Amino acid sequence: YAKSKGPGQIQFYSGEMNDSAALRIEMENDLRRGIEKEEFVLYYQPKVSLATGEVESVEALVRWNHPEKGILPPHYFIPRAEETGLIIPLGRWIMDRACREAVIWHQAGFPRLRVAVNLSALQFINQDLVREILTALERSGLSPECLELEITESLLMQDPDAAMRTLSGIREKGVHVAIDDFGTGYSSFSYLKKFPLDRLKIDRSFITDICDNPNDAAIVRTIITLGHNLNLKVIAEGVESQAQLEMLKTMECDAYQGFYNSRPLPPGELAERLKEMRILKTPLPDEDTT
Ligand code: C2E
Ligand code: MG
Ligand code: MG
Ligand code: MG
Repeated sequence: YAKSKGPGQIQFYSGEMNDSAALRIEMENDLRRGIEKEEFVLYYQPKVSLATGEVESVEALVRWNHPEKGILPPHYFIPRAEETGLIIPLGRWIMDRACREAVIWHQAGFPRLRVAVNLSALQFINQDLVREILTALERSGLSPECLELEITESLLMQDPDAAMRTLSGIREKGVHVAIDDFGTGYSSFSYLKKFPLDRLKIDRSFITDICDNPNDAAIVRTIITLGHNLNLKVIAEGVESQAQLEMLKTMECDAYQGFYNSRPLPPGELAERLKEMRILKTPLPDEDTT
């Protein structure tokens, strides 16, 4: 059974347990139990406008608050959830929770804040996805314009026709759609002009060395130009320094996300941080706006 050896170090085998099939089944059962018991939490990372410094949106990033192992990051359980189909009920829970938490921030004085939810391929090819999203919106009372979906290029390319139908259904309602990890998947320019999209998120791997590596800088500049020419907003992920931020500003990137601004935060901490951050909001009647 997986044993925790401290933060970030998880040992998957404990000696006796060397049958990987048995281990996988155990993990699956554990995951199923965790979903039933709602042991998951969403952390949120702000997306900040480079022009105004305002928080436009927050990305929901799931963690498993495991009773024995503590807080587990997505790479520990998302792949298994995808293999077993458990990503369907887990994804439904994530969508529901993200919409509900967004409504709480709206009521707390941040009425235009959007929430971004990551989708797996299996969720995306699920026939019921559009209906499930609408149900989550209705149940929470969140307006569709305040929901953003993050999907990857490869996900779109798996079944472009089905993806087109799903995307159109989602976009029709006003929900925003972003391509996540842009630049790392199978790139086909024809789908970029065909699919109804709002945003490109430049993958962190191109941002890391943007200040020192002219090739990375050239790629980022090109993605920004491409996005803008296609009427898409462009956001950079994984920004960790002031220098990277300044570079992206000169390139006229629209927004950024990264540890430089904030790590993903649990909902309570996010609510506190939002109070200190500039944020897109309609001023309250009694508020000093000068
Ligand atoms: P992603 O959607 O590309 O999310 C960005 C990842 O980069 C997050 O890792 C985030 O914590 C991390 N990150 C953000 N800023 C920085 C930075 O400045 N430096 C560095 N080094 N890292 C940064 P996380 O939370 O571990 O999530 C990893 C991946 O797991 C996500 O990549 C996404 O593909 C997947 N994931 C997370 N939450 C969900 C979810 O609710 N549903 C699904 N289907 N997948 C999810
Ligand atoms: Mg994402
Ligand atoms: Mg990403
Ligand atoms: Mg990424």
